[in-house]
Amino acid sequence: MSTHDERILFKNMEQPGYAGTLDDYRKVGGYTAFEKVLKEMKPSELIDLVKKSGLRGRGGAGFPTGMKWSFIPKDHPGPRYLCCNADESEPGTFKDRQLIENDPHQMLEGIGIASYAIGAHVAYVYIRGEFTLGAKIIQKALDAAYQASLFGKNIFGSGFDLEVVLHRGAGAYICGEETALLESIEGKRGKPRTKPPFPAIHGLYQEPTVVNNVETLANLPYIINRGPEWYASLGTAKSPGMRVFSISGHVKRPGNYEVPLGTTLREMIYGHAGGILKDKQLKAIIPGGASAAFLTAAHLDVRMDFESIAQAGSMLGSGGVTVMDEDTCMVWAAINLLEFFEHESCGKCTPCREGSSWLLKILRRIESGRGKMEDLDLLVTLSKRIEGMTVCAFGDAEIAPIISTLRHFKGEYEDHIRQQQCPFQSNVALVMSH
Ligand code: SF4
Repeated sequence: MSTHDERILFKNMEQPGYAGTLDDYRKVGGYTAFEKVLKEMKPSELIDLVKKSGLRGRGGAGFPTGMKWSFIPKDHPGPRYLCCNADESEPGTFKDRQLIENDPHQMLEGIGIASYAIGAHVAYVYIRGEFTLGAKIIQKALDAAYQASLFGKNIFGSGFDLEVVLHRGAGAYICGEETALLESIEGKRGKPRTKPPFPAIHGLYQEPTVVNNVETLANLPYIINRGPEWYASLGTAKSPGMRVFSISGHVKRPGNYEVPLGTTLREMIYGHAGGILKDKQLKAIIPGGASAAFLTAAHLDVRMDFESIAQAGSMLGSGGVTVMDEDTCMVWAAINLLEFFEHESCGKCTPCREGSSWLLKILRRIESGRGKMEDLDLLVTLSKRIEGMTVCAFGDAEIAPIISTLRHFKGEYEDHIRQQQCPFQSNVALVMSH
């Protein structure tokens, strides 16, 4: 595993005086990668290059980016679309927001490169409704880029045209799911579509479409300029590159940290984030946003890459690491997460819509001291009837906090039931950065 110290996406914004304007970005080589691909590369060569770099999606699923692009039919006669998913709304995750607000042109240049690769002449940036500042910054950056003829007609004299449109969401979590995002851009209610067909075949307006995350796209200019071998040498063999992790909760230095994939949870929490507040004991970790199963202090030496976190029983997801100390009631933590999921369920399928309410009722009963031991089996049975039975992955996400707290902290549930009260002072100071 690489122990690379240099930051990539955060490098510019950490320089004194760097404000993320088009001038600033061009002074450090901005848009040279876009020019290079337009003038020197065929789309197929660009796709091969990104495949070779090993770049995997940074939104949640970790799907190989070059491969995703290659699913777009080459002989499609109509339009194709590129959508940038800037709907970052996974609790505990705030990395895309920082990338957008401090260095928006990285993402915009990445949009240009990805659009060229798949032959899209229209790209959308779908940004979550609450990101008011981010939306203003992107629009300003887009205006400047258009002014400099970096988007529009015949870019760099290459004959390639690209229009980039900023589209603001209305604040629904589910619109971060790629097909719900497409529905929302089309002006419909943001509800996931049944798959297949996948967006590469029937996407936006039923045309071939790629949806890529902000961080994924922002990496592209560097991969072009420094080469796929360089990028593949960072991180681990199967999870190459750097990753921005958002660390929040009971740590001394919450924030975004860009590190090589494969960095251990221990280094993230006790190194970068300075350890646990008031030097208390660590109890639980959500390693990849609210949809990821809980891990514990026993997992501190697990590496933060797609494979290692999956082997430990969770997922790398959105890169949102939420840390909880010894005083946190884990039944309360499960309730906290499920309240979010119950509220955000789009309601399209019954197991998710109804199941989340039932699970929440049982959890609240236990937390308030009115639970029975049979409730623990009921939680598992009900969760199993949601798992894999829903239109989108949200169903599996909403049961993750329950199944994983029961796996690691079953004794706490039992204590609530035996003592007929919460044995903890609910720790309301927990910050789920949402
Ligand atoms: Fe909607 Fe939930 Fe079904 Fe996903 S799983 S489509 S969020 S109801």
